[in-house]
Amino acid sequence: MVPYANAWQYVRGRIDRAATATGRAPGSVRLLAVSKTFPPPAIRAVYGLGQRAFGENYVQEALEKMDALADLPDVEWHLIGPLQSNKTKVVAERFQWVETIDRLRIAMRLSDARPADLPPLNVCVQVNISGEASKSGVSPEEALALAHDAAALPRLALRGLMGIASDTPVVATRHAEFAVLRALFDLCRSGGLPVDTLSMGMTADLESAVAEGATQVRIGSAIFGPRGRDA
Ligand SMILES: *Cc1c(COP(=O)(O)O)cnc(C)c1O
Repeated sequence: MVPYANAWQYVRGRIDRAATATGRAPGSVRLLAVSKTFPPPAIRAVYGLGQRAFGENYVQEALEKMDALADLPDVEWHLIGPLQSNKTKVVAERFQWVETIDRLRIAMRLSDARPADLPPLNVCVQVNISGEASKSGVSPEEALALAHDAAALPRLALRGLMGIASDTPVVATRHAEFAVLRALFDLCRSGGLPVDTLSMGMTADLESAVAEGATQVRIGSAIFGPRGRDA
């Protein structure tokens, strides 16, 4: 029995049931496996189940894992943690996705640093939908302008929007927050941006996110188990 097989299958089932329950096609929601704090053997095991997209929050930790897993040809690495400008070069060189674009300056640096022999770097604009000061992301009011600016950069491919809902037991609150992100996503599309990714929903709230239109959920602990500290 491959480690993590039950957990990974169970998460896939949760996603498919959530999609079906709201009239969406099962398989219309991608699973990003969030591997932060978990070591390369754990990632390798989940890769062995067929998972290809992995999310990491910390650049240095991710680079070490990329090196340890360099023999796996088609892993897709997503940066889902904050990005400092002194890390943009290595991130542009090593990641396939950056989901945490929250200012134009960072987007410009990533575009400038993306190597010419690689396809454009996939990016999402991170929107602060919870309104909590501690959370990253642009305000909903600023999101569309940043999305249009990022989409115009030559070495970036704007794929969509990313958000994190409040950590609350109140289901209606997170539905409302996810609905804000969905509305912004629809405005991107109607404004002519070729976006296809609405990245929202984690272990605790994936059903709410899928009900509100998520095309990608980011799941860590339901696959890999609890993280020691809240990392
Ligand atoms: C850690 C993290 C996740 C995954 O959280 P879980 O609750 O373990 O599923 C998703 N998105 C972001 C931005 C994270 O930092």
